[in-house]
Amino acid sequence: MSLQPQALHVVFIPLLAQGHMIPMVDMARIFASRGAVATVYTTPVNARRFRTTVSRSGKLGMPIRLVEIPFPCEEVGLPVGYENLDILPSPELLTKFYNAMEKLQEPIEKHIREQTPAPSCIISDKYIFWSSDTAQQFGIPRFVFHAMCCFSVLSAHYVKHSDCSDSITSDMEPFEVPGMPKGFKITKAQLPGNSVRQQDFEVFRGKIQEAEMAAQGVVLNSFNELEHGCIKAYQKAIGKRVWCVGPVSLCNKDETDMLQRGNEASSDTEKYMAWLDSMKPRSVIYACLGSLCRLAPSQLMELGRGLEASQQPFVWVIRRGEGDSELENWLMEERFEERVKGRGIVIRGWAPQVAILSHQAIGGFLTHCGWNSTLEGMCSALPMVTWPLFSEQFVNEALVVDILGIGVRVGVKVPVRWGEERKVGVLVREDEIARAIDALVSEDEEGEERRKRAAELGEKARRAMQEGGSSQSEVSRVLQYIMAGPTQEAV
Ligand code: UDP
Repeated sequence: MSLQPQALHVVFIPLLAQGHMIPMVDMARIFASRGAVATVYTTPVNARRFRTTVSRSGKLGMPIRLVEIPFPCEEVGLPVGYENLDILPSPELLTKFYNAMEKLQEPIEKHIREQTPAPSCIISDKYIFWSSDTAQQFGIPRFVFHAMCCFSVLSAHYVKHSDCSDSITSDMEPFEVPGMPKGFKITKAQLPGNSVRQQDFEVFRGKIQEAEMAAQGVVLNSFNELEHGCIKAYQKAIGKRVWCVGPVSLCNKDETDMLQRGNEASSDTEKYMAWLDSMKPRSVIYACLGSLCRLAPSQLMELGRGLEASQQPFVWVIRRGEGDSELENWLMEERFEERVKGRGIVIRGWAPQVAILSHQAIGGFLTHCGWNSTLEGMCSALPMVTWPLFSEQFVNEALVVDILGIGVRVGVKVPVRWGEERKVGVLVREDEIARAIDALVSEDEEGEERRKRAAELGEKARRAMQEGGSSQSEVSRVLQYIMAGPTQEAV
């Protein structure tokens, strides 16, 4: 059958969180670049962050658009404007936030009903469970998007469906996750699902699982060569097709796309990109702990001191709201930025991460192991210092350090609960941070081997997204599936 994606209309419904929206908007652009009409549903505050990117893709001839649906904050008792998880000041509001997301169902369905061409498929975040009913109503398939790698999704599946942790009495005792194509160990404390208090989420968990079971397939931001047999194993475990169509960040080829990805970058962008231009290739450590976590100011001070103590040039991203006045006072009193002048810079607010990671001056990435960041680090062939915080980030750390051999652990053993970071205080000390960075940049055999493996992986990631590469072919297979229905290849 000849492929005519022009006849297809793919609807994307992301969770309103940066780590979920950013890859889904990239994915929509990838599908639109193949000729399918792509509609991304979001809310006004989020649309502001992505409008420029999407309209630039439109101007380049891609049939993509962003549809804004008002977020019913007042209706659920949320302050107006709290439209993204990175804006929520505390996880206590999480249930209200998910209630508001659920209320998007009706207006989105109404909008879908009026569209020509009629939608052919929905790709929606696993948390948008109600889109399973939407797809059924319109008689089209729904594919679940997990903002994770297959290695993580598969290990969570095996942990849930086995008794491997039943006999483990201590939360801190490492145990082997059974059935994985490449074995690894984790502790009960580090398992995903411990990042928010359970009761906040219990209502939704069952609905999410039910909708996952009803879905026709799974789409992931990853690539076959990275997953070491996990894709086949996961397909077999759930009896559905699993397509890896990433690393999606690589669709941002020109500098403007990279600089504007995910949000308006801080006003100093030009200044620090020029600073990077002046640095030696592969000499700078980029430190950023994602879009959600709010570490205690005391912990961030340790991070600052650790970066300084490492003697390496660095870029340190501090997100807005992160210890604001206390951290700022410390930075000022310590004259931190003066002290590290010429060797380190501090970015406050949103950093154009992919543009920075792609800069030739960057030689290492201190990351919280959020899946997007981890994959973006791999795309830039970077070895990483791993500092997992919560969710499935400890599993990603195991992938990076134990399986792929491209990382050095900072040594954190227990997750922080989202929203309770400040209660925990300091988990990682300055000397541990400096030690991990020193190990990462070391020119000894281990350091060289790590860099070599990271370079090979970066090459594989880029190849996957090129013409004829594995992820390019997977996008074709998704389109083919939508056109032909589930009659083809058995899982
Ligand atoms: N990001 C960015 N600039 C920032 C912080 C984050 O561009 O200052 C992007 C980063 O490139 C990644 C996403 O935000 O694409 C964060 O997703 P990830 O899964 O790494 O972590 P999360 O924020 O969900 O914890």
